[in-house]
Amino acid sequence: MNDIADDIRLGPDLLPHDGRFGSGPSKVRQDSVERLAKAAPTYLGTSHRKPGVREVVARVREGLASMYALPGDYEVLLGIGGATLFWDAATFGLIRERSLHYVFGEFSSKFALAAGRAPHLRRPVVVESDFGTHPDVGDDPSCDVYALTHSETSTGVAMPVVRPVPADDDGPIVVVDATSAAGGLRVDPAEFDVYYFSPQKCLGSEGGLWLALCSPAGIARIEAIAADPDRWQPASLSLALALDNSRQNQTYNTPALATLFLLADQVEEICAHGGIEWAASRCDASAAAVYGWADASSYATPFVEDPSKRSHTVATIDFDDSVDAAAVCRVLRANGIVDVEPYRKLGRNQIRVALFPNIETEDVVTLTRAVDHVVGALAG
Ligand SMILES: *Cc1c(COP(=O)(O)O)cnc(C)c1O
Repeated sequence: MNDIADDIRLGPDLLPHDGRFGSGPSKVRQDSVERLAKAAPTYLGTSHRKPGVREVVARVREGLASMYALPGDYEVLLGIGGATLFWDAATFGLIRERSLHYVFGEFSSKFALAAGRAPHLRRPVVVESDFGTHPDVGDDPSCDVYALTHSETSTGVAMPVVRPVPADDDGPIVVVDATSAAGGLRVDPAEFDVYYFSPQKCLGSEGGLWLALCSPAGIARIEAIAADPDRWQPASLSLALALDNSRQNQTYNTPALATLFLLADQVEEICAHGGIEWAASRCDASAAAVYGWADASSYATPFVEDPSKRSHTVATIDFDDSVDAAAVCRVLRANGIVDVEPYRKLGRNQIRVALFPNIETEDVVTLTRAVDHVVGALAG
């Protein structure tokens, strides 16, 4: 088997223009990198408290507000540490007493775990569904945070962002992990209070930052908890400090300037084409290509059975037992097509393909043809 695999060479018609299909870190546009290289002599290595970098942060904040046509009283916050750090920040600064988590994969379960271990909070309510599906939202009056995940990157399931209960001053807030969704899936800002994400997925930048689009109720929650003398918050995890610094187009501690630059560039690219609708339409086209191919295939099937639950930013495709997905991935990798291995803990015989807006639909189509070719060649 291995010998055959080593010999399979894909011809030029089976090679995408860009071989990066990973779900994060994911494809970064080369023209962004070139603009960064050009800006570097007066940008990289300069103070994040001075206008040069603060202007880039302002472009990110204004650009995200414009991409989503956010209401004027929403604010864009950012800080160091990515979505994973944001879960911990939320246990200190967003959850008053108790959160409710809709869990349907690795990422949604991790936030529930973080809240469950925080000694100052009540045990969270966890509403789970089988991997490959998502739970339906329902209310629980004992909870003051509803934690949703727009696109569960580990399984390729997208859930609608809708409030479990109508918005209400001082009521529960809706906090959404949008890490593989932001910049690729449509969302109505009226349906969330905090929509947070890392920039290394649809937003074509590097890891290490978190961003959060916040409604007035989200901001009010941050401020109310920060004013509680009984609530200890480590400074690096304080959303109130992040709010303060974000309003000045800074971060509390030093950010990666390259990450900010690449993010601003990507946000402006999407905005220049009209915003999230344009980006989401690109993802729709790629989703139609990959799911259409799998539906028609004799050996491949979309892992997510219900088409309405299939994420248009991350596709998971099962192979039947006649095909060894790991062997297919090895051949693809040897040919420069990388990171279509499945999420390791899901443990399925499948490939996972990012459909982020930077990834050309034409390349997704070529990938499906390459997979067909490799499967045929491996079968001898
Ligand atoms: C990638 C991802 C995360 C983790 O992001 P980090 O930047 O590694 O912290 C969290 N949630 C979702 C949905 C993700 O896709």
